[in-house]
Amino acid sequence: MRISRYILPTLKEDPSDAVVMSHRLMIRAGLIRKESAGMYVYLPLGWRVLRKIIDIVRDEMDRAGAMEFLMPELTNAELWKESGRWETMGPEMFRVRDRNGMEYALAPTHEEAFTAAVRNLISSYRDLPVNAYQINTKFRDEIRPRFGVIRSKEFIMKDAYSFDLDEKGLEESYQAMRAAYRRIFERCGLDTIPVEADTGAMGGSDSEEFMVASEVGEEVLLLCDSCGYKANREKAEYRREDKKPGEQPDKMREVSTPGVKTIDDLVGFFKCTADRFLKSIVYVADGKPVMAVVPGNREINEQKLARATGAAQVDLAPDAAVEEFTGAPVGFAGPVTKKNIRILYDYSIKSVVNGITGASRKDVHFSGVNPGRDFIVQEEADITFAEEGDACPKCGSAMYVKKGIEVGHIFKLGYKYTRSMNVSVLNESGTTVTPIMGCYGIGINRTMAAIIEQHYDDRGIIWPPSVAPFDVHLVGLGKNDGEITETDAIYDMLREKGFDVLYDDRKASPGFKFADADLIGIPVRITIGKNYFQTGEMEATLRKGQEIYKVRKAELADRLRTLIK
Ligand code: ATP
Ligand code: MG
Repeated sequence: MRISRYILPTLKEDPSDAVVMSHRLMIRAGLIRKESAGMYVYLPLGWRVLRKIIDIVRDEMDRAGAMEFLMPELTNAELWKESGRWETMGPEMFRVRDRNGMEYALAPTHEEAFTAAVRNLISSYRDLPVNAYQINTKFRDEIRPRFGVIRSKEFIMKDAYSFDLDEKGLEESYQAMRAAYRRIFERCGLDTIPVEADTGAMGGSDSEEFMVASEVGEEVLLLCDSCGYKANREKAEYRREDKKPGEQPDKMREVSTPGVKTIDDLVGFFKCTADRFLKSIVYVADGKPVMAVVPGNREINEQKLARATGAAQVDLAPDAAVEEFTGAPVGFAGPVTKKNIRILYDYSIKSVVNGITGASRKDVHFSGVNPGRDFIVQEEADITFAEEGDACPKCGSAMYVKKGIEVGHIFKLGYKYTRSMNVSVLNESGTTVTPIMGCYGIGINRTMAAIIEQHYDDRGIIWPPSVAPFDVHLVGLGKNDGEITETDAIYDMLREKGFDVLYDDRKASPGFKFADADLIGIPVRITIGKNYFQTGEMEATLRKGQEIYKVRKAELADRLRTLIK
């Protein structure tokens, strides 16, 4: 491709609204342009990269035995009503009507659509397993689209759905996808960390997310180098230290604490560390009140709380409800109460000695509170977030925290959709059974951004060869007609030998052309300049490391093949 005939609007300056490196570089290197908030135009160079990633994904999915479909993007409301998600998907789902008033969703995901399609295509155990996938657009009305294509309103996803006769089959399908994902990301030049992920309140058992470690990642990972435990913070467990401080239990006393409500207020008032407080927060879990009691220095993990209560939805109780359920305004609730409210204690509460807690009355706290004596720990669960330095749940070593970008997600769904949407097959003995599902997603555009986050320097992008928009960046510096004709001949020769060549044939200075080549980041740059016309030696410069090799025309193709690797 001749740059003189190509749309390649590179920029010297960072765009003002781009806060992460991948976003800046995608704009500056002429890969994308913003259409409107959370929506992007892929320019020819950017689309080439997306297609490379898509090709790798397709290749590995096919190799793993999955079958490619193409599904409608408009999904009938009836499908979503069957599964119950027409109500529960909320405002993230774009909904539209046709001229007859029929309702549809612009698919944010395709569980229902694939379940319905496959339901009509299988009838016997002989038809299973099925793994159906597509590479197609998803629409999500994200609250905060940001970081360029990392979180956008419209993006390309590879989504796959497996249907198996039983759990053993599902395990095989899941492991096959796990292996395929590892290969996909490796081929894309991405270092990923597979972490245990939350399976949500929707049932499902195993789930893993593929994370790319990055400072700009929105996910928080807890990692243990001693035993290899890796989990998303939403899911991560940790071992509670069972060291009781060497204190004798005091008597429980009332302390007047007018206006002392927050943990910070309490730390100032009582002059002690936050972990001494029994933070007692009231939630509404599927309509019923529940009080969560955790150490004052810990944050409540609402996903864990939902799982522990068995509720699909937990929300902070409004102030008036807190007063009604606990007898005290917000800030003064506590587990020493006569009210009949369900209380969930974090595992760490049991070992508190001489804790401080709200007295279930306005402006009063109790000090010297001891579990087992002043209140009974009836229902215990893991309801707090793990933090940096917490003990690994598997081996007890200190864990550390890393931020990550989620590029892929694999999930054992279980029977949620096959049951609600009545999918069945006959098994070997002629009995009707419900297949079990898994689902597996990769964000193609987000993967592209994550690759850049892992591969750049102060000059620009450094594409791994497997996903580079072109193989070779040919820079012509010839001035007269003869020199230009000779450079054109090299360009033609390379194309004939099967290379994808971006040919900078513009009338511009060497410095300008080199800066563009570094910004765009194609693995090898070939420079045809003065040296070539005098000695017959051209320069091949590797984008990564900037090493320079002298190459003659006759050996160019062979040398390029090894250099690109
Ligand atoms: P997130 O927690 O980041 O919103 P998700 O859990 O909603 O992601 P899934 O529903 O599992 O994501 O979708 C599969 C993949 O699609 C994700 O791993 C991610 O790579 C990609 N993806 C999800 N939402 C977006 C988005 N708004 N923009 C770009 N890619 C996305
Ligand atoms: Mg999401």
